[in-house]
Amino acid sequence: MKYDIVVIGGGTAGYVAGSILARKGKKVLVIEKEKFGGVCVNFGCVPSIFLFDVTFLLNRFKEIAYYLGLDGEIEYKDLLFSKRNEIINYLSNAGRRLIEDSGGETELGEAEIISRSEVKVNKRIVEFDKLIIATGSKPLIPNIDGIEDAISEDDAVNLNSIPSSMVVIGGGYAGVEIAQIYSRLGSQVTLLSRSEILPTFPEDIRSVVKDSLEFDGVNVVENTRIVKLRDGKVITEKGEIEGNVIVYATGRRPQLPKGIEKLGLEINECGIIVDKYKQIRDNVYAIGDVIDKERKTAHSAMFDALVASLHILKETTFIPPDNFKIPVVLYTDPQVGVIGDHKEAKKFSVFPFAATTRAIINGIKDGYVKIGINERNEIVFGEVIGDKAEDLINILTLVVNNRMRIESLALMPFVHPSLSEAIVNAAKGFFDLDVDRYKSKDGKT
Ligand SMILES: Cc1cc2nc3c(=O)[nH]c(=O)nc-3n(C[C@H](O)[C@H](O)[C@H](O)COP(=O)(O)OP(=O)(O)OC[C@H]3O[C@@H](n4cnc5c(N)ncnc54)[C@H](O)[C@@H]3O)c2cc1C
Repeated sequence: MKYDIVVIGGGTAGYVAGSILARKGKKVLVIEKEKFGGVCVNFGCVPSIFLFDVTFLLNRFKEIAYYLGLDGEIEYKDLLFSKRNEIINYLSNAGRRLIEDSGGETELGEAEIISRSEVKVNKRIVEFDKLIIATGSKPLIPNIDGIEDAISEDDAVNLNSIPSSMVVIGGGYAGVEIAQIYSRLGSQVTLLSRSEILPTFPEDIRSVVKDSLEFDGVNVVENTRIVKLRDGKVITEKGEIEGNVIVYATGRRPQLPKGIEKLGLEINECGIIVDKYKQIRDNVYAIGDVIDKERKTAHSAMFDALVASLHILKETTFIPPDNFKIPVVLYTDPQVGVIGDHKEAKKFSVFPFAATTRAIINGIKDGYVKIGINERNEIVFGEVIGDKAEDLINILTLVVNNRMRIESLALMPFVHPSLSEAIVNAAKGFFDLDVDRYKSKDGKT
């Protein structure tokens, strides 16, 4: 059987590319060896954000109960994991359905590359004109004596009970999110990081997130080296910590299909090297976590899938710029959104949510927007900490990727009252026009 396009991997990148190409009339086969939907749906974003949302609401409930002097507990634990599994199942099937409803074919089985024009799956040989490798990534297992007693970040969000204690190894975004979720669900959590937590994030974000973790009762131990794991204990140079469950969240490595060497690709430890169209050679593309990139996220995988699909379709209307920035969100409380590189910015302006009318109406006291500009007054960096960061950072993504000038943003008539007014006010701050600042009690962030 011959296809126009074979996609290996039915995760976020694979099902998006497969659906687009099938919808545009190509004969497409998407092969998935485990679960359609991949990591994001089954082991990543979906279970972790579901658990995050539950803990966020529980915390707000506790705050309200405290202010109103109410007693009582909510019984939610039985429902928690069954509801999570229900959502995962629905979305996992949805990934497969999207491809099929678009006219593509799907197959469950492990694909192996046989030659530059053939793959093998379930003992049959499938020919292709073009191949898309979308095989994702796997957790990196750290080289620590006794690590086989620990579970990965993928497994941590799929536990079916709440451990009484947990040690999380790794202070990147996955480790930080897992630590806060389980601490809020009632586990005694220690977070171990070999450097400071969130080392690639700006200083102010590191400090806000660390304070919030500690406020929730997480024992954050930074700049520590783990010696070994023994009998449910993590032995570090600074002492021993017991954990009912030990989790490693120490980064990810590309997951390469068998036979990949037959394609003669350039691959480093972070992934396959591709050009700006995600192309490797005339008939081979790679997209998503399997490619070499700094931040492996689902929205970046979707972007790769779109770019590669448009290139295959010879759609010249859409040309990705060379230096497109991808936002990143930390699903912590407070939420954090970042776009661009703070080191590219020469000047910054910060505007607190507390000085917006919307925040005053809703009783929001914390959080802020920060904007960074270069010497040409182009906006090159944006940061949101607090409520709705996941949405507000999308506005700054538009701004940064279009290299908008700060004068233009400062003039934008954003809706009043809205939290996003903090964005235009941060822009106005560069010209001392952010008069709203004095609505907050002290005008401080
Ligand atoms: C705990 C956690 C939380 C996360 N939270 C977020 C978040 O909030 N937001 C966000 O944007 N990102 C988040 N991510 C990252 C996100 O999940 C990944 O970036 C995304 O899943 C990458 O998609 P992908 O399609 O490239 O790879 P994957 O989702 O890994 O899919 C690859 C698929 O290929 C299949 N496959 C591999 N080899 C073969 C083969 N030989 N034959 C057939 N099939 C094969 C695999 O089984 C897999 O299903 C999170 C990740 C984790 C672990």
